[in-house]
Amino acid sequence: MVEIRLHNTKTRRKEVFTPIDPENVRMYVCGPTVYDRAHIGNARPVLVFDVLYRLLRHVYGADHVTYVRNFTDVDDKINARAAESGRTIAEITAETTQWYLDDMGALGALEPTVMPRATAYIPQMVRMIEGLIHLGHAYEADGHVLFAVESYARYGALSGRSVDDMIAGARVEVAPYKKNPMDFVLWKPSSDDLPGWDSPWGRGRPGWHIECSAMAYELLGESFDIHGGGNDLMFPHHENEIAQSCCAHPEGGFAKVWMHNEMLQVEGKKMSKSLGNFFTVRDLLEGHDGAPGVPGEVIRYVFLSTHYRKPMDWTAEKAAQATQTLKEWFRLTDGVEPDSKGAMTIVPDLSNDLNLPNVLQKMIHFAHHGQACELKWALDFLGFTPSSDWWHEGKLEEQTDYGFSHVSWTGTMSPEIVDKLSALARRLVEVRWNAMESKDFSEVDAIKHFLGQAGVQVRMSKTGVEVTPGDDFDSSKLEGSA
Ligand code: AMP
Ligand code: ZN
Repeated sequence: MVEIRLHNTKTRRKEVFTPIDPENVRMYVCGPTVYDRAHIGNARPVLVFDVLYRLLRHVYGADHVTYVRNFTDVDDKINARAAESGRTIAEITAETTQWYLDDMGALGALEPTVMPRATAYIPQMVRMIEGLIHLGHAYEADGHVLFAVESYARYGALSGRSVDDMIAGARVEVAPYKKNPMDFVLWKPSSDDLPGWDSPWGRGRPGWHIECSAMAYELLGESFDIHGGGNDLMFPHHENEIAQSCCAHPEGGFAKVWMHNEMLQVEGKKMSKSLGNFFTVRDLLEGHDGAPGVPGEVIRYVFLSTHYRKPMDWTAEKAAQATQTLKEWFRLTDGVEPDSKGAMTIVPDLSNDLNLPNVLQKMIHFAHHGQACELKWALDFLGFTPSSDWWHEGKLEEQTDYGFSHVSWTGTMSPEIVDKLSALARRLVEVRWNAMESKDFSEVDAIKHFLGQAGVQVRMSKTGVEVTPGDDFDSSKLEGSA
């Protein structure tokens, strides 16, 4: 069996991964709060843990891995969005959840085995909170239930902070009902205009951290293998999850391995709305602020080309390079059967704490040495199956009222470009028809010239028009009108 080694935040070391139960390898990753489109930073943990999920399925068998990623559908940001938009919370969370699945699907991410919504687990959260109160780890105060951090000696161990340091560093105003300033909310009261559930402490709603603890316990048990998320979640979110889960279920150890991805930046800067470099996955896919859309596979390539424990920079330059590489790979592997010999080269690097930069280098090597079948295996394995964004060699023939229009191409082409070319071809068919009547061929010539400057060859016959992008075809020159 392949030996997987993973960097464990808990021990700050790369460790050999040994599942608690190889028949059911279990992983939990913190998912999104669903009130808006996912930004491109949110895609990083999705893609990192997607590759880990694929690796685990490869090593332990597809039916022997359980991957849970939650949707946080109760949160004050959602309430605020509902209040300002006049829409219902249910509408907003349902719409945003579907957007998230569509956007991450476009990046080639597999869906996790289970995707629990927090609001479907409220009774389980209440039960866990009751247990924590019972065991002396939580207390009720002023309609709230708070976790008492001093009741858990290992509080702060994951992020390597002491409670005293945390208090010193905290700049937040401390609620008067807290016994210790670091105590955090498990349950809070809801006014009538806010979502709420009946509980032993009155009508209210859960705090964020208890959601993950309760869902992980219900779906994966008191101990499981891997817990993941971005490193911005390490404190306080993950620290609080550990405290809650280990105190409520002292018989279990919660997650054995903790994995954290580093943050994403844009062109060397932190992504932020005020810097104007903030964009969503959908913006990237569809094009934004004058920039053309980027196929999901290209986004995936750029993300995977930086090791997950290093800060990652999204740049237009990297996207352009990735496009060239993928174009070449898809061309080389078109119609090729995958050869699992590719696994021998790829899997050892992946198993070494997901060394994807090395994996991509080896794929470049495959391409240079004509190992198309191995390359195809690696592409399939990593989720680089060319979607409809990449059309292989093909043709599109349409019969119009004025004759046929025919577009044919070799290599890969995006459907957008195919659409553009076929629209131009249809227009040419119509214009040619009119010109035969009027004997004015100026518009015909204009379109032919426009296509020509973009490197597209045009053949006209009595029955129609044939359009073929040549070797020097430059799709960017199709911008604007003929
Ligand atoms: P949130 O919805 O903000 O809780 O974030 C969902 C996931 O995205 C979490 O795992 C975060 O750690 C991760 N995340 C948020 N911002 C970034 C970023 N700039 N780079 C990488 N991961 C991020
Ligand atoms: Zn979580």
